[in-house]
Amino acid sequence: MKISHETGASKTILFAAEELGGYLRRMVKELQEGEFEIRLIDDSEVFPTESNDSFRVQIGKNGGCITGNNDRSVLLAVYDYLHYLGCRFLLPEKKYEIVPIIEKEKMEASYEKRASFYYRGVCIEGADSFENIMNYIEWMPKVGFNSFFLQFKSPYAFLERWYSHLENPYAEAENYTPEDAQSDMKHFEREIKKRGLMLHKAGHGWTGEALGYQTVSWNVESAEKNGQLTHRMAMLNGKRDLYGGVPANTNLCYSNADAIETFVNLVVDYAKENPDMDYLHVWLADEYNNLCECDDCSRTTLSDQYVELLNEIDKRLTEEGLDTHIVFLLYQELLWPPVVKRLHHPERFVLMFAPISRTFEKSYELGGIKTSIPVFKRNHNTLPTSLSENIAFLRGWQKIFKGESFVYDYPLGRAHYGDFGYVHIARVIYSDIQKLEQMGLNGYISCQELRAALPNALPNYVMAYTLFQKETEEQELIKEYFSGCYGESWESVLAYLTELSRLSSCDYINGKGERCSQDIAGRMESISRCCLAFEEEIRKHRDEKDGWENGFWEILEYHRNYIILFSKALRELALGNEKQAYLNWKAMREFICRNEEKYQPFLDVYRILEVTRKYTKIREPQEI
Ligand SMILES: [Zn+2]
Repeated sequence: MKISHETGASKTILFAAEELGGYLRRMVKELQEGEFEIRLIDDSEVFPTESNDSFRVQIGKNGGCITGNNDRSVLLAVYDYLHYLGCRFLLPEKKYEIVPIIEKEKMEASYEKRASFYYRGVCIEGADSFENIMNYIEWMPKVGFNSFFLQFKSPYAFLERWYSHLENPYAEAENYTPEDAQSDMKHFEREIKKRGLMLHKAGHGWTGEALGYQTVSWNVESAEKNGQLTHRMAMLNGKRDLYGGVPANTNLCYSNADAIETFVNLVVDYAKENPDMDYLHVWLADEYNNLCECDDCSRTTLSDQYVELLNEIDKRLTEEGLDTHIVFLLYQELLWPPVVKRLHHPERFVLMFAPISRTFEKSYELGGIKTSIPVFKRNHNTLPTSLSENIAFLRGWQKIFKGESFVYDYPLGRAHYGDFGYVHIARVIYSDIQKLEQMGLNGYISCQELRAALPNALPNYVMAYTLFQKETEEQELIKEYFSGCYGESWESVLAYLTELSRLSSCDYINGKGERCSQDIAGRMESISRCCLAFEEEIRKHRDEKDGWENGFWEILEYHRNYIILFSKALRELALGNEKQAYLNWKAMREFICRNEEKYQPFLDVYRILEVTRKYTKIREPQEI
């Protein structure tokens, strides 16, 4: 078998050829050398009006060609063809792939695909080892994603959390420095670019950098260190200071010329230093109700100041001859559209709508009662939880900005821990994606834990495949996934996990709603019962080694034990027995920390423990 391409083909095409050859040689045993040839072609002429990833697969008896409208599309087509032949990429780890043995006659295929959306990607969160990140990058194009977002100037925060084993007293902390992150980042970027994926960078951190701090995390810093720069900080209650001691969360006085000039210089220098970056995110502080109260700032709104800042960055980038795309953020106070200021060159910018405070009990609401935008009250704003209110803000911005845009959403950052079956959150993701077009958005970037696969990676799988083809049938996708993971008994697993999903609550984990709730307590009790009842089925598969070897049943057993402990803690919390809730939570913590080494690819221990304390409000006895 031969995989051919043009001479001088890009590194992405070379990689696509290597991947296709590697998989097919494992899958088709009876092929002789020279008998079969597939040619990979990167040709934008084939889809002249198409900017979204598009490709054509034409394989006959003796081979054929795979053509894409860019080199990334050729790679996506290769993986799509493998999927067509029966490969299943079930988790961001090679170990969990299904690679079937097929007959040569089954290799024929003829079809065309066009991605439903331009932006399809994931942003790093949680705690991640070097291998976790590499595995995720490898997995992305296999399921159709095309963008990866490394937050801050380097993803130090996420790697450092893992190597210091934050929250896990049983794992020995390893030293990890910002310099380590710089060198690891080079590896990640090479792998991202090898696959032709779009690279997004930065985001929060600019405000801290403008105050003289190296800001690659949300770390607390001492305020004295750069005392001579306090005039750049927002003034709150008459005082200019770090907000909670955290530079990344501190706003600047955006009326201060020195602060603005420093900010703009930082962004322009970074753009110059990172020519491989496709999208540069320029955001402000990561906390709200901490805006500057000086006379000049009080006369305007944050969004008006933001637009002015973005225009200044645009002007300077133009002077430098840089066409870097800038992503700006609609989030917290920036949800309120600017009153008078407008972007001068919208073509440079991409709008990113981030409804961080939304509920995940339901999907986006588009119709129904028209909600209006509440009045902007400096440092006394409440963030919208209802979906219709969130949409009202987006519509407000869309009236004044007609450029490119995508949603930045959080189903797999926090909320997913509340869905014990992962079927509900997968369905919310599916349904949200169906509505993007109507919302006027051309894609979706998921801000999420990279290790979100307990009991399985269905939510991420549904996200990826639906973003590529929104016409994909939800039920078909779920069936494909479950039968891949659990074999012939997949329907019983789906019924079990669907029931767990029905009984659980994303909002409760996320801190929304009353902490004391008879309803939640009752549901948690039912969840424990449901888990106990499923033990028999799992044991049967273990004892008879029925599908046990591919790993998913074993993960399911681990998940079941974790959920039994977790639901006990939540039940006590919902009954108002906070001390008992804490003790039960500690038992769960003990269990997941002791087992972290083995099960780390599926559950981000750091993040679940942080979320249950900070948002769900499990408190230590002395805090009660
Ligand atoms: Zn000010």
